[in-house]
Amino acid sequence: MENFDALEALKSYIRFPSVSTDSKFLDGMDNAREYISSILEGIGFNVQIVSTECHPIIYAERFINKDYPHIVLYGHYDVQPADPLGLWKSEAFEPVIKDGRIYGRGSADNKGPTIVHIAAIIKAFKQNANLPLNITYVIEGEEEMGSPSMPKFFDKYYERISRADLMFVSDTGSPNTNQIVITTALRGLVELEVKLKGPQGDLHSGIHGGAVINPLHVLSEIIASLHNKDGSVNIPGFYHGIQEIEPWELNELKQYPLDVDAYKAMLCVEDLHSPRGFSPLEAVRFEPSLEVNGMGGGYQGEGTKTIIPSQAFAKITCRLVSGQESARIQDLVLNALEDRCPSGVQLEVRRGCHANAYSIVPPHKSCTKQGSKVLEKAFKFTDTAIEKHFYKKPLYLREGGSIPVIADFKHRTGLDAIMVGLFTPQDNLHAPNESFDIKLMYQAIDVFSDIFLSFSDI
Ligand SMILES: [Zn+2]
Repeated sequence: MENFDALEALKSYIRFPSVSTDSKFLDGMDNAREYISSILEGIGFNVQIVSTECHPIIYAERFINKDYPHIVLYGHYDVQPADPLGLWKSEAFEPVIKDGRIYGRGSADNKGPTIVHIAAIIKAFKQNANLPLNITYVIEGEEEMGSPSMPKFFDKYYERISRADLMFVSDTGSPNTNQIVITTALRGLVELEVKLKGPQGDLHSGIHGGAVINPLHVLSEIIASLHNKDGSVNIPGFYHGIQEIEPWELNELKQYPLDVDAYKAMLCVEDLHSPRGFSPLEAVRFEPSLEVNGMGGGYQGEGTKTIIPSQAFAKITCRLVSGQESARIQDLVLNALEDRCPSGVQLEVRRGCHANAYSIVPPHKSCTKQGSKVLEKAFKFTDTAIEKHFYKKPLYLREGGSIPVIADFKHRTGLDAIMVGLFTPQDNLHAPNESFDIKLMYQAIDVFSDIFLSFSDI
């Protein structure tokens, strides 16, 4: 790997169409996995392909000495489907470089950051071939499917992973290419599908209207009851025990380069409504929420159809913050739905997935909590390296999104994550014309190479 060219490697990696959710792309999955595995093997890692019920996981180790610090690098080799293909300005799986960006599905999420980590290791090894650092790679192929195989993987590899000190993840965002964010929390997620059944079939509203309870009316009322007038969630116990906000978190957010007006303009909305005294930018980070994602029933065609519909449905998800137990929140929502359902209709609720939030207090940011020494140093190395190569200190912020596997890592192996955000809003993640900033990629390689080399000072 004397002449590893990060940009060329990323181009090759993008060319493997590794869409995990579509069996047409099995070859792309195999080839992407083999490509990364062979690079890791080439730089001295002991690579194992861990089979799962669906897509195998790349597990690679460079274990030198149990007394050295030990980091885990997590990433995923699968990508989102490229559809709708007609909206791409270039081929989705043929990388194109334009205006300082590399375009292609997966260029940012998560192939770019994976190449950053690899290039940084190669760079660090060039400076110190005997780098006193144990490194474990976990690169899964099912992240875009919700990481269903990871729990079994954690069971099997618990011993090996739990002996590490921390992990680095670059699967989160920063507001622009100058201001890197280290994500300190990810929200959890709860899913529920609700069906309300009334009469066996649609009824004539002229013959029966006024006597029969209408499932759509009932569902609308129940759904409306889930929030208070101020927008807060109206379910007893929903906010119970949530993690308090520390003063340093509010200070960091003040430096975030986006104000409410710019946020409104970005979303093309006239106004924002955030409950419980939080500003909109605070609410999406510090507060849990409940959203109806879809709702329907009855006649949806052209014109009028005078019926009392037999069924109504709604899809509900909650975003959770630390301190909320996801299974409990799912119960609370389900109980509220049941309590508020009148007789005359039948309520069916399907529980979807649920995942806890994840949060970490960077040791240097808190005077109340103590992390491990290695974790504390790792945060410091990261902070210093980002300031050196991006000419600005990183911001430490909670994020509204969810990466359930990160909470699972913590829950099942005890590992905390330093999440260095390498995505920017221009990247178009999960959408057509996904791209990755090339200058940021090279700066990030320098950052991670410095971080890895710094571990020799521990
Ligand atoms: Zn991702």
